[in-house]
Amino acid sequence: MDEKLSFFKDGFRLDGRRPDELRPIKIEVGVLARADGSCYMEMGDNKVIAAVYGPREVHPRHLQEVSRAIVRYRYNMASFSVEDRKRPGPDRRSYEVSKVSREALEPVILTSYFPKSVVDIFVEVLQADAGTRTAGINAASVALADAGIPMKCLISSCAAGKVDGEIVLDPMKFEDNFGEADVPIAMTPGGDFTLLQMDGRLAPEELKRALELAKTGCQQIYEVQRTALVDRYSSIEEQESCDEAEVEIYE
Ligand code: UDP
Repeated sequence: MDEKLSFFKDGFRLDGRRPDELRPIKIEVGVLARADGSCYMEMGDNKVIAAVYGPREVHPRHLQEVSRAIVRYRYNMASFSVEDRKRPGPDRRSYEVSKVSREALEPVILTSYFPKSVVDIFVEVLQADAGTRTAGINAASVALADAGIPMKCLISSCAAGKVDGEIVLDPMKFEDNFGEADVPIAMTPGGDFTLLQMDGRLAPEELKRALELAKTGCQQIYEVQRTALVDRYSSIEEQESCDEAEVEIYE
């Protein structure tokens, strides 16, 4: 008989977190010179890069919409990002993740400002440890802002899961693989959901608790996204005012 897996030690998870704690987050804005907007993000051991291009001309032309921009989202997992090498190229899972991620972001993008054009979002997963779709959405949201794409607000995303009968925030790979359920969400800072998926089974009260927990996670992620953008642009402004000062001195 299989030995029972243990997810907790002395009330803490195996990576030392409390059940309601997110993994450490790191965000860098504007990391790619040739993209209009970009973002590198770490959520625990997940490492992803998002690049945004546009609004730009649509190719192939027949995809053009006369009254709005279209949004394309390509999620790709590098072969070396997972334990067992992933076969390169798109597969069913990457089509699904790309679709739901696009749908998570599209409602806040002001597409009607840019008819007949496209906003292209590329997300590359460099290292995966469960929650790559949520990390990708967070990074893409920041990259869209970095590209100057008009949006109603940022989107923040994270998951809650069930392990050993307990609801936990932001499951890592071991919890995701061997847990009982996984509920990734994305939402606006105002609390409107743009993504809600569920893997596994949860009782109604458990789902309620998972959503509450994931919501608090998204609120914390929003603060990190906002701070990363403010820091990036205030440092650029500071640099520009320094440059101006230098011009005045040496003219
Ligand atoms: N995974 C993997 N190989 C794959 C796809 C996924 O090892 O081809 C792992 C990877 O660590 C991923 C996790 O399984 O993060 C969970 O995948 P899921 O489909 O739940 O998406 P995610 O949680 O990353 O959004």
